[in-house]
Amino acid sequence: MDVVNLNHGSGFVYGIGAREMSVAQRVNTLIDAALLTARREQPERDYLGASRLGEPCCRRLAYEITHTPPDYGHDLDGAMLRVFEAGHRFEALSIEWLRAAGFDLRTQRRDGSQFGFAAAGGRLRGHIDGVILAGPDIGVPWPALWEHKALNARSWNDILKRGLRIAKPLYFAQVQIYMAYMEIGVTLFSALNKDSQALHHELVSFDPAEAQSLSDKAVDILRAVETCELPPRIAAASDFYLCRLCPFARRCWEQ
Ligand code: SF4
Repeated sequence: MDVVNLNHGSGFVYGIGAREMSVAQRVNTLIDAALLTARREQPERDYLGASRLGEPCCRRLAYEITHTPPDYGHDLDGAMLRVFEAGHRFEALSIEWLRAAGFDLRTQRRDGSQFGFAAAGGRLRGHIDGVILAGPDIGVPWPALWEHKALNARSWNDILKRGLRIAKPLYFAQVQIYMAYMEIGVTLFSALNKDSQALHHELVSFDPAEAQSLSDKAVDILRAVETCELPPRIAAASDFYLCRLCPFARRCWEQ
């Protein structure tokens, strides 16, 4: 509905269209504030998360694990937190669907904790989405590590077209380091298209050389952090495409 003039005296009163916008903004502000408050109440990670090891810039990872504040305007916001939360809900759906289809997918230990591992005295840790112990005969040598991502249509189609290793090297690295430390030789990577709920599944084999290089990278970063050094930048100039997207770019290049 268009904005209408409901002026009965002095001043201008906005009609339903404008009022709806204002209400939407107010509600969303409250939701995002609640999400941010809940997030702040969670304990901060004091370790290098294995899921981040595929990030190409070691310096960025060092900033992250030392809880260095990002540049102004680059803090995690409500919109990102809603995306994370939605990802968890989509993952729960995929778990139900796989189990209904006969896959023995385990996502928790008996005490309810998540499966995972710790290395380097606990300074490198990973938490896996699950392990499929057994299932229908689809040509997979069980057990298989299970990793799930809920993606927008563009990313989902890219994985279909080019495969995980090329389309999403960050996720490829994540499953490689998980397989190494969980001692599982294969991953079933499930991707859910958030626009259509279409599912794609890719089998990823363990690549020992890739996993070793990621493990070495983790050791280098942890050593640098321990000695209060910054790992080298990934580029020679700040206009490198990854630096332009980096939430620490100003700090990294101007300080
Ligand atoms: S700005 Fe570039 S070099 Fe610096 S931390 Fe970010 S990605 Fe790495």
